[in-house]
Amino acid sequence: NGVANGFDQQKQLRVAVVGGGIVGVAAALGLLRRNLSVKLYEQADNFREIGAGVAFTTNAQTCMALLSPSILAAMKAVSTKNESPFYTYVDGYRRSGDQTDDDSDLSETLLYRLHAGTTGFDACHRAHFVDEMVKHFPKGVVEFGKRFDTYTFDEERQEYTLRFEDGSTATSDVVVGCDGIKSRIRQVLLGEDNPASYPSFANQVAFRGLVSMDLAVAALGHDKAHNQCMHVGPNAHLLNFPVARHTMMNIVAFAPQHEPWTHEKLVAPATADEVHQVYGGWRPAVRAIMGLLLGIEKDGRLDKWAIFDTFEHPAPTYCKEGVCIAGDAAHATSPHHGAGAGSGIEDALALATVLELAQKEIMVQGGGGGKNKKMATVEAALRAYDAVRRERTQWLVRSSREVSKTYEWANPDCGTDPEKCLKDIERRAHKIWHFDIDGMLEDVKTQFARFLGA
Ligand code: FAD
Repeated sequence: NGVANGFDQQKQLRVAVVGGGIVGVAAALGLLRRNLSVKLYEQADNFREIGAGVAFTTNAQTCMALLSPSILAAMKAVSTKNESPFYTYVDGYRRSGDQTDDDSDLSETLLYRLHAGTTGFDACHRAHFVDEMVKHFPKGVVEFGKRFDTYTFDEERQEYTLRFEDGSTATSDVVVGCDGIKSRIRQVLLGEDNPASYPSFANQVAFRGLVSMDLAVAALGHDKAHNQCMHVGPNAHLLNFPVARHTMMNIVAFAPQHEPWTHEKLVAPATADEVHQVYGGWRPAVRAIMGLLLGIEKDGRLDKWAIFDTFEHPAPTYCKEGVCIAGDAAHATSPHHGAGAGSGIEDALALATVLELAQKEIMVQGGGGGKNKKMATVEAALRAYDAVRRERTQWLVRSSREVSKTYEWANPDCGTDPEKCLKDIERRAHKIWHFDIDGMLEDVKTQFARFLGA
């Protein structure tokens, strides 16, 4: 009769998660922990995160623990803490009176320090983190080589059919699109003609790479290499932070690009000339970091990343009936707050929490529930998810664009005034770091009850 150990498997909600990036993997683990029936469909042949750094704030880590302790354990197994409780912001551009023109003078004027204390970031190598997380998938949950194309809803059976590019299909009660910045689910959900279905170019590129800590210390000294440091200046800024348990230093250097991005992919090879054009006139410390990146280029690996986001055309909703989007699929952001993946983890927690409530509700509906009632319950859950996540995540996308201007002395409210810049950055960072997670979870319950009654 489908009832095992008091658990009615006939009524177990089936959730199809599309996309096995950080958010899809975390969401799937959180849903599994709540006893939902989960399938994860990934287009690639295996999990392959890129070899770059990613940092998570303490509140993102709390969300990981609440989603599933295995996620936080995976992050802790590979993450790196800042040595200092402060993030430093230095003038990477100008010379002060006592600084020389000498290339060996790696000093930079300290502009301000942001106190992160216990609330700031832990950083990790993306691939290491995903590799640790996926160890926790039971057999049969993940299907690779499944590039999602479209979905349809079968009124008779009251379920979704997902179609993949290899011609195969799958059925599910709920579809969660975690398929990243170019999300196909977003296009199907919002309509292919809708500009909100596509991200747009933020007129910025990032040169990024990981270098060995030994080289980084030799170039920058111990303190700068082992701690998060932002080198600010006009029209560009550069960030370094330690990853891989202080064995590597992550570098991300931003530069403006006013011409449209014409490459098909979001990553393209970069040249030394491009780097020199932007940072050639900056202080020796910044040029030394760029030298490390160009050292990578010698091995043929220096890339530039187009910064795309959903700033221009935010999604008017993150859900429709039994389908929703999360992570970059819903709100791709430029990376200036270092919180894109973290906010996707927050999404995953809200989603897993409310879908668990939906599953409980479906269980108690018993014979009186009926098929349509089940889908109405799922819809109420996804509307509740949308209600608690959209405003915060779309603020993040806007604020990330704005704070980039503060770093580059282009925010008219702050200019080059260090005190004003620090206040601006602190206000935004605190909104991200001191997020009321319990409040969100209470809110999603309230919203679910409201939509269920509607
Ligand atoms: P993705 O990582 O893009 O994963 C999407 C997955 O879906 C992929 O595995 C893909 O193969 C799969 N997929 C796509 N289409 C399909 C399809 N049709 N069918 C099946 N599968 C599909 N965030 C932070 O929190 N901290 C940071 O420090 C940070 N630094 C950043 C630095 C830079 C330079 C950039 C660009 C971003 C940074 N971010 C950071 C943001 C972060 O990288 C993203 O928010 C995060 O990786 C998004 O994860 P995701 O799982 O939503 O999407």
